[in-house]
Amino acid sequence: MSPFAKLSATLAATRHTIARPTDLAQLPLTAHKFGGSSLADADCFRRVAAILLERDDAIQVTVVSAMQGVTNALIALAQAAARRDAGWQSQWSALRERHLHTARELLADKSGASCVWLEARLADLADTLKALAVLGIPAREALDAIQGLGEVWSAHLLRAHIESLGHDCALLDARDVLVVSHGELGVAVDWQSSAARLADWRTQHPQRRVVITGFVARDASGRATTLGRNGSDFSGAIFAALFDARELHIWTDVDGVLSADPRLVPEAVPLDALSYEEACELAYFGARVIHPQTMLPAMALGLPIHIRNTFKPAHPGTCIASGGDSAAGPVRGLSLADQLAIVNVEGAGMIGVPGTAERVFAALRDAKVSVVMISQGSSEHSICVVVRAADCARAEVALDAVFSRELRQGQIQAITVTPDISVLAAVGDGMAGTPGVAAQLFATLGRAQVNIRAIAQGASERNISVALASADASRALRAAHAG
Ligand code: ADP
Ligand code: ASP
Ligand code: MG
Repeated sequence: MSPFAKLSATLAATRHTIARPTDLAQLPLTAHKFGGSSLADADCFRRVAAILLERDDAIQVTVVSAMQGVTNALIALAQAAARRDAGWQSQWSALRERHLHTARELLADKSGASCVWLEARLADLADTLKALAVLGIPAREALDAIQGLGEVWSAHLLRAHIESLGHDCALLDARDVLVVSHGELGVAVDWQSSAARLADWRTQHPQRRVVITGFVARDASGRATTLGRNGSDFSGAIFAALFDARELHIWTDVDGVLSADPRLVPEAVPLDALSYEEACELAYFGARVIHPQTMLPAMALGLPIHIRNTFKPAHPGTCIASGGDSAAGPVRGLSLADQLAIVNVEGAGMIGVPGTAERVFAALRDAKVSVVMISQGSSEHSICVVVRAADCARAEVALDAVFSRELRQGQIQAITVTPDISVLAAVGDGMAGTPGVAAQLFATLGRAQVNIRAIAQGASERNISVALASADASRALRAAHAG
C-alpha cells in the first residue's frame, strides 16, 4: 500500500471515533483556523468571535494561532535568556502587558479570572527563563515548550470571550491529545494515539463549540513540541480530519491564495479555486499563506479547504479541493523560495558514467541536506542541486569527500557553491500537456534581463522551477506575473 493510501485508510478508520454531542449529532461539523494576523488585538478577537457566532448551522471546531508576533517574541525571549542577556526581562514584561491589556479590553468586568490565569502562566514562563539564564544554553526542549505558549494564551482568550457572550465553549490544549514525532520528512502525526486521546477528551467535553491551540503538540514521551513555524494551518487540517469535519476554513489577512505573494507583486489576484496539488506546490515553494503539510490530511479525506479573509468575511476566498479549476489557464500561481544556494558538480568524466547522480544524492542524504530542486543537462556534464543556504557548506563538504578520488584524478573538475539563490516556481495543473509554457516563461525572464542559473520541471508537469540570483528575484517574479 502506498503511504498515501495508508494515510487515507488510517484517517477513514479514525474519523468516526470522536463522539458528536448527542443532541446535535445530526449537524455537520466545520473546522476553522485563525492565524496570528487575525488575532492581533482585542478588536480582532471580537471580529473572530463574530464570524464564528454568526455561523450556527454546524458544530464548530476552531484552531487558533498565537496573537500576531507573539511566537517571534517568545523565541527571541528564550534566546535572550539563554544568552544571559538581561534585556529578556523587559521583553517578558511587554508580552505580559500585551496579553493582560487584551484580556481587560476584551472581557471588561469579566476579565478578572483570565487576568489571574494569565499572570500565573506568565510567572511560570519567567521561572523557566530564569532557569534558562542559569543554565545558559537554549535547551531544545525548553525552546520547544516556550515557543508554543502564545497559542495557549490566545486560545484561552478566545474561549473566555465566547463564554462571556453567553455561549458554551470548550477549550482543548492540543498538547494533551496531539501526538507527533519529528522525522526526516517533517512532522509525522501518530493518528491512532491522537484519535484515542481526543475521543477520551471529547466524552468529557461535549460542547457545541471547541477552541483548540494551533502549532503545539506532544511527542511520544509527553513532552511539549510544535509543528514547526507557520504550523497552525497544519493543526487546522489535523483537527479537521480527527473531528471528521466536512470542510476547513483557514482565515487570514488576504482574500485567499493569490497568484503571487502580494508583498512582492502588488497586482497579484486571488484565485477562486486550486487543486490540492497546486496548493502543495505553491506552499512548498514559499507561498506563506498556507503551510505545505496542511494539504495532506485534507487530500486523504477529500476535505475542501477554504482560504478566507477575516477582515472581509463576505469574500468567498479560495477553495482548495480535488480538481481545482479546470477552466483556468495553465499557470495558476507563482511563488518564490529564497535563502537557497546552488551546488554544482561538474566534470567531463561524469558523461555516461552510471551512478554519479545516485552518489550525489546519497552523500547529501547522509549529510542530512534536503534537496529543493535538481537539474541535470542531457549532456550529463554537470549535476546541479539547489539546497537551503544553511545547508550548503555541509553539502559541499560531503560531496568533496565522496568525490575526492574523481576530483584528484580530474574526472570531476569542480564542486562549486553559488550562494544567494532564489527559486521561482510557476505552478498549475494545466501546464501538463500545454506546450510552450516554459518557453513563454523563459522569454519573459529574458526580456527582463534575468539570468537563469538552472531550470527544472517535475515529471507531473505541474511545476516549472527556475533558479536565479536572489538580487533578481523580485524583478523576475513581477515580470513573470505580468507575462
Ligand atoms: P496567518 O497569520 O493568517 O497564518 P501568514 O502571515 O502566515 O498569515 O500568511 C498570510 C500572508 O502570506 C499574507 O499576508 C501574504 O503576505 C503572504 N503570502 C505569500 N504568498 C502568498 C500568496 N500566494 N497568496 C496569498 N498570500 C501570500
Ligand atoms: N504561531 C506560530 C508561528 O508563528 C504558528 C502559526 O502561526 O501558524 O509560526
Ligand atoms: Mg500562517
